[in-house]
Amino acid sequence: QLRGYTPHRLHHCTPGRGRRLTLSTMFQPQNLREDQVLPLDGRSADLTCKSQRLMLQVGLIYPASPGCYHLLPYAVRALEKLVRTIDQEMQAIGGQKVSMPSLSPAELWRATNRWDSMDRELFKLRDRHDKEYCLGPTHEEVVTALVASQKTLSYKQLPFLLYQVTRKFRDEPRPRFGLLRGREFYMKDMYTFDATPEAAQETYGLVCAAYSRLFERLGLRCVQVQADVGSIGGSLSHEFQLPVDVGEDRFAVCASCGFSANVETLDVSQTSCPTCQGSLTETRGVEVGHTFYLGTKYSSVFDAKFTNTHGSVSLVEMGCYGLGVTRILAAAIESFSTEDCIRWPGLLAPYQVCLIPPKKGSIEEAAAELTEHLYDHITEAVPRLRGEVLLDDRTHLTIGKRRKDADKFGYPFVIIAGKRALEDPAHFEVWCQNTGEVVFLSREGVLELL
Ligand code: ATP
Ligand code: MG
Ligand code: MG
Ligand code: MG
Repeated sequence: QLRGYTPHRLHHCTPGRGRRLTLSTMFQPQNLREDQVLPLDGRSADLTCKSQRLMLQVGLIYPASPGCYHLLPYAVRALEKLVRTIDQEMQAIGGQKVSMPSLSPAELWRATNRWDSMDRELFKLRDRHDKEYCLGPTHEEVVTALVASQKTLSYKQLPFLLYQVTRKFRDEPRPRFGLLRGREFYMKDMYTFDATPEAAQETYGLVCAAYSRLFERLGLRCVQVQADVGSIGGSLSHEFQLPVDVGEDRFAVCASCGFSANVETLDVSQTSCPTCQGSLTETRGVEVGHTFYLGTKYSSVFDAKFTNTHGSVSLVEMGCYGLGVTRILAAAIESFSTEDCIRWPGLLAPYQVCLIPPKKGSIEEAAAELTEHLYDHITEAVPRLRGEVLLDDRTHLTIGKRRKDADKFGYPFVIIAGKRALEDPAHFEVWCQNTGEVVFLSREGVLELL
């Protein structure tokens, strides 16, 4: 028997079963100016965007080295919620989740010539036998070599869609804006394998539709634009751009025919739409997703083949599809928040409810007890909120101060036990952060609302 790991103990570790989550015990280092911690080669860091500042202020992230952040408990909760939502959408179209190594042998990258062409963007290293590797910035080479190793692949097994959510490494020339442009970040990357170009293009449409559904569920109004194919290559490509002021991309949209493209592509002249000659409007955006139809660009290099309907062999038709997971988190905060207060897409808020009992000694202790009862009641009666309710037990602080913190943090619901909580029946002040509404509700009323 493992010492300390009795099933009994594990049971008691499950949140929402007799144990209350308290704010005072959260690991939340905060209020740091990034440039005080890590000067970038003598230059001051660009602490210039809202999401970066707010995420540092409330203790979601903490700087580690240029372009690298510690993701703290709240951020990890939000990230896990985002990953679950992505999983649902990817699996709804048949995606199978895998996890490929980050340590990527140089010979794979030499085979596609990207060892040289991506050169300075790659984090390169050697093992003790002097064998060269890079830390995966993307996985086209790795996944194609994996599929190519399956020598008996048949058309009957196609299509298949493999995806992963892993850390990616890129030696960005200008890491900045917090999680929007890191040197180590989370990406969801999907790779699809089809028998014919027509089938691959159908799959392409399927993944784009899944991306649109994902962004819709998150409440992010992304625009799907034609894109440059960059170093990944291929012939058909779109980006999902979220319009925000700090976006490093610019895209043009035609109001009359709906044409839209990243201004990097060649088809966009400065003023008029290439399809209808209508006028174009330019917007700043952050690239939250990117889709590519690759054809046989990678399968031809690694000889990834399958037996077709005629019994002979053909190269698989591929697509690749990226989502910037940590970038989406920061971009959502960038687009939803005010200058001073974080606002989340409802699905991603780290905790759904924050309960604020009165200040110690201010009014009767009974009100504090009432809040604790309410806590237990909510987590018992609403299973979906188990582990989602946080008690702000810093009762040495006034209600006003804690309410202000809750506003900054952006819990969707803040419930305050003030003076009216002691009336018969008790009434709690409920604050719906996303609408700004404040209502007084009985315990039953609160449960109904949640
Ligand atoms: P960018 O143009 O912003 O440098 P990219 O075109 O180089 O991005 P892709 O190779 O298309 O990026 O990667 C897929 C997705 O990964 C991007 O759409 C983006 O959301 C995310 N991503 C890329 N680079 C970073 C980064 N440095 N930090 C965070 N997310 C990133
Ligand atoms: Mg890039
Ligand atoms: Mg780009
Ligand atoms: Mg891209």
